[in-house]
Order: sequence, then C-alpha cells, then structure tokens
Amino acid sequence: MKIGIFGGTFDPIHVGHLALAKNARSQFLLDKVILIPAYNPPHKKSIPFLTSAQDRYEMVKVAVGQEPFLEVSDCEIQRKGISYTFDTIEGLEKKYPGSEFYLILGKDAFEDVDTWHKASLIKKKVKFLVANRTDHDSHIPEDVIFDWVQMPLCPIAASSIRDAIQHGKPVDAFLLPEVLRYIRSRNLYQDQKSRS
Ligand code: ATP
Repeated sequence: MKIGIFGGTFDPIHVGHLALAKNARSQFLLDKVILIPAYNPPHKKSIPFLTSAQDRYEMVKVAVGQEPFLEVSDCEIQRKGISYTFDTIEGLEKKYPGSEFYLILGKDAFEDVDTWHKASLIKKKVKFLVANRTDHDSHIPEDVIFDWVQMPLCPIAASSIRDAIQHGKPVDAFLLPEVLRYIRSRNLYQDQKSRS
C-alpha cells in the first residue's frame, strides 16, 4: 500500500490542509492519506495555549468524514508526550507492514526537517511530498527524497483563522461548514489572550 502521512496541529483544520491532502493523494496515486493531529507538537512550543487534542481531533474527523481516501488517526493523542514524527512512522510501519510511506507537508515545515527528532532516520524511511506556501525560494534539506505537490498556492493559515474568529470576521471561505459548526458549538477561538 502507498500511504500518505499528514501530521499537523490542525488548530483548526482548514481548506488549505484538505487541498494538500487531496492533491497529494491523487497526484501520487496513494491508497489513502492519514491525517494525524499532534498531541504535543514539538515545533509549536511558543504557543502557550493549544486547543485540546480532543477538539482538534474531532474537527479533523468531521472534515474527512465525507472524503473516501482520507482518514484521521488518534495515534499521537493516544501516545501522549511529545509528538515525534519518527515514532508515528514506526507505529504505522508496524500497523501496515510492507507499505510505502509518503510524508505530506508544507514548505515551511519541510525547510525545518533537519531540526526534527531523528531526522536522518526519517529521511531514510519516507518520501516527502511538499506543497508551496509562498513564492519565496526554498531551502531544500540535504539527502531527502521529495517531490512537489502540484496545486495552486493556498494562502491560508490556521493562525489567521483563529484571529479572524476572535475578531468576529467571516471565515466561511476557509473552513468546511461542518468544522465551522463544530467551532461555534464549542465556542473555540473566542478568547485568544493566552496565545502569543
Ligand atoms: P498555524 O497558522 O497555526 O501555524 P498551519 O495553518 O500552518 O497553522 P498546521 O496544522 O501547523 O497548520 O499545518 C500542518 C501542515 O500543513 C504543515 O506541514 C503545513 O506546512 C501544512 N499547511 C498548512 N496550511 C497550508 C496551506 N495553506 N497550504 C499548504 N500547506 C499547508
């Protein structure tokens, strides 16, 4: 099986995430893409307050509900602790023996790969499928196998969506209606004072 692994904070999941997952799936003929909300993302330590893992998981779950090739996994939430991608890949290798793994991510995350826990081992295990997020030139990490995901630039970030919600601005264009309904029902992102 060809399996896409798409980790993120998903705080909240937005149409940019979904476009990336779907384009990577179809372009590289993956059997499925597994979206994995991080329990404790190692690269977002500067965020003093993160929406609960359960809420972020539920939002991803409703977002992928109607998508035949996308699924959500709570493996990082169950594992607790710091959510290292290496551990997640090892878990998936055990669950899906003999599969090929593709790590799906945006260029911002890709450029940081060398700072990841056990980066050199991860590079040996997966092919990276990378989406552009800006027009700027990229720093490409060394010794990686990667390919670009062909899709229009999608200038959406979860941080802007959180800010917009807090300031009462419309966000309908950036979120699936089911996700927005979930956010409203749980009153998420109303008070962001504790964020940096
Ligand atoms: P924040 O604004 O809070 O930093 P984010 O929108 O970047 O959040 P994450 O959950 O941190 O969302 O992202 C998960 C993965 O999805 C990362 O690899 C990121 O680069 C990628 N990604 C997020 N938004 C987009 C987008 N609009 N286009 C392409 N890739 C994206």
